[in-house]
Amino acid sequence: EFGEISIKDLDQLARSSFPLCMRHLFDKLREDHHLKHGGRMQLGLFLKGVGLRMEDALAFWKAEFSQKVGAERFDKEYAYSIRHNYGKEGKRTDYTPYSCQKIISSTPGVGDHHGCPYRHFSEENLRAALGRMGVGSRAMEDVVDKVRNRHYQLACTLTFEAVHSSSCDAGINHPNQYFSDSHKILQ
Ligand code: SF4
Repeated sequence: EFGEISIKDLDQLARSSFPLCMRHLFDKLREDHHLKHGGRMQLGLFLKGVGLRMEDALAFWKAEFSQKVGAERFDKEYAYSIRHNYGKEGKRTDYTPYSCQKIISSTPGVGDHHGCPYRHFSEENLRAALGRMGVGSRAMEDVVDKVRNRHYQLACTLTFEAVHSSSCDAGINHPNQYFSDSHKILQ
């Protein structure tokens, strides 16, 4: 648990401190005003883990989804699962954010944006996404090399090191760890 963050900080934090899997979901949500179930779970639990409170999460998702499906349909069809993620509905389990291992082994279908980009993107799309994150050409070759050898978390670790100009000796094994390590450096 990380403390509290507010909605107005999210865009800045997404750019500076989200790992690529979450940044991709965040950007797609902003762009399409919609995410399918797998994406809502992966991003929603991550945001909970970084400290977005339930009321803010509801407001954040509603602001996006309303533009696509309308506020009423959001309240009827989508608000429940957000409260559910926070343990306020159903079995009242307090769901924990997904680890890298879980995300890497997921199987996104057509139109899904969840998963791990190092595993699930084409090389071309991955290179473009890394470029947008500010990964230089030399580091990019190292990242792509790790991906070719199926070392996805090492590829993510090298990305972290490239964009923060700082080492990450422990390696990346959880998106929320990526976020908190990034925040520590940038604070
Ligand atoms: Fe996300 Fe982990 Fe993949 Fe990095 S290695 S993009 S944190 S799932």
